[in-house]
Amino acid sequence: MDGYVTIDLSNMTQVNLTMANGGRQLTAWTGAGITNSLLVAELLTKGPKGVASLSGSCPSVGTGGFYLGGGMGNLSPLYGLGCDQVLAIEVVLADGSVVTADAEHYPDLFWASCGGGPGFGVITQYKVKVPVHDDPRITSFIVFFPADGGSTYAISSWQKFIAAQNGRNGLVLTGATLLPAAPDRPPVLLSSGMFLGPKEAAIKAINASGLLDEGGVMLDFAPPVEFPTFGHFMIDEYMRLMNDWNSQILVEELGHTWDRSSQAHFDLFVKLALQPGSLVSSAENRFWRWFVMNACYMVPELSPTALKALMAFQNSPTDAECAGSASKTNLTTATDHLCLAKALSNQVTWNHILGGAVAAVPTNATAFPHRKMLSPLCHEPGMPYGTYDRKGELLPSANITSSGGITYTYTPQLLVDAFIKRIQQFQRALLPNTPEIGTYYNYILPSLEDWQRSYWGSNYPRLQRIKAAYDPNGLFSKPFTVELPVRK
Ligand SMILES: Cc1cc2nc3c(=O)[nH]c(=O)nc-3n(C[C@H](O)[C@H](O)[C@H](O)COP(=O)(O)OP(=O)(O)OC[C@H]3O[C@@H](n4cnc5c(N)ncnc54)[C@H](O)[C@@H]3O)c2cc1C
Repeated sequence: MDGYVTIDLSNMTQVNLTMANGGRQLTAWTGAGITNSLLVAELLTKGPKGVASLSGSCPSVGTGGFYLGGGMGNLSPLYGLGCDQVLAIEVVLADGSVVTADAEHYPDLFWASCGGGPGFGVITQYKVKVPVHDDPRITSFIVFFPADGGSTYAISSWQKFIAAQNGRNGLVLTGATLLPAAPDRPPVLLSSGMFLGPKEAAIKAINASGLLDEGGVMLDFAPPVEFPTFGHFMIDEYMRLMNDWNSQILVEELGHTWDRSSQAHFDLFVKLALQPGSLVSSAENRFWRWFVMNACYMVPELSPTALKALMAFQNSPTDAECAGSASKTNLTTATDHLCLAKALSNQVTWNHILGGAVAAVPTNATAFPHRKMLSPLCHEPGMPYGTYDRKGELLPSANITSSGGITYTYTPQLLVDAFIKRIQQFQRALLPNTPEIGTYYNYILPSLEDWQRSYWGSNYPRLQRIKAAYDPNGLFSKPFTVELPVRK
């Protein structure tokens, strides 16, 4: 960006651990340039057996921005947000001084650093608490909640479970995706979950929790995994087992092979996601595409009307409307490309599931205002690989081959237009039917007009006062960061 300076912190990756209580109480001072995966690797090497880390789903994400926006991970219902683990920060202020802020020293600055986003100073080090588990075993599972006869009752019960008891007794729901109806089944919400402990205990905990009492169905358990450390599980198996359909590309990029246990889950997903009439199954396309645009909103429990509107979005255009497009191999019209867009990216995803320890913190106790929301709900279409040239310009024409071996020709620009149209349809389904909605700062949505309210809600005025106190001349300002208050 013209007129801005970027400070590169990526070499600040030191990790200094302090253990107390026989290694069960672990804290770490970490360089603010460290990525989630490097931090986990350091904890594994230097920490005790059973060490865990509050990281997100993707290893390349830096802890600096992750904590500043809040930081959601699969362990959040148990321990809170990433920033809830932060005990202190070392910050370079706009006047050049270096201070250490915590709950007692510079408490406003410390408050802002948990969800307020960047713009108050340059954080050089974080002091974080690190959970340690006596039992490193995790059992992961997938449950589903069908919308039989168009009823959203079972899905509503899943939402109520999150609000009432996610994270309780070691049982955590971590993510979900809405699958549109197929000829042989109704729409279903597919939710991943995990239990801290072995499978037998997981079954008991699930039965005792009432998770499946109102129409939920157990789909599958991942094969039991017993790793020497919880942390190891986090970066290797955990991502593959818990987020199969989300992390497949990443796993491959990391050089992992796709083992049989993960394949079994993936096959189930493909089976459920495959729809007759689709040009190419969206599940398969995750092998070779990447997100280019998204729309994510922090949502509370969705009303039946909102859920039905999202289901209608997933069915638009209908298979009947796409029958003509599916029968040709040269896709030329806007409708052809809308059908292709739907076939490639039809997901509605609860990217992380909150509740539990996240919701237990009052909304104004930190700058992160979405404590009572259930999840970021996302529609994230992505262009197939091979649609851009080396300069990043869209190619005039591209090909895509279905699993059945049929090659379709399409126009990438028309596909972009179709994705944008579908994002707007997603927004029209969700927003009018969900009055209490917000946006997660770390899933930035540049098209937002009221971004201040959407990112920070009623915490925004306090953030502005802190900005004025610590950065009165706006040295650390850039678009979509907390603004200085208007001088009267
Ligand atoms: C592939 C992918 C997966 C993701 N998965 C998750 C997830 O599972 N959970 C989740 O909560 N989020 C997730 N995110 C969102 C992620 O939290 C944000 O993109 C976050 O901003 C990343 O932080 P960064 O430091 O890597 O990014 P950067 O772009 O380097 O930083 C983001 C902002 O914070 C500022 N900043 C960074 N470090 C500092 C510092 N030390 N001091 C002051 N300002 C600083 C930067 O100036 C910038 O404005 C994901 C993002 C990606 C790309």
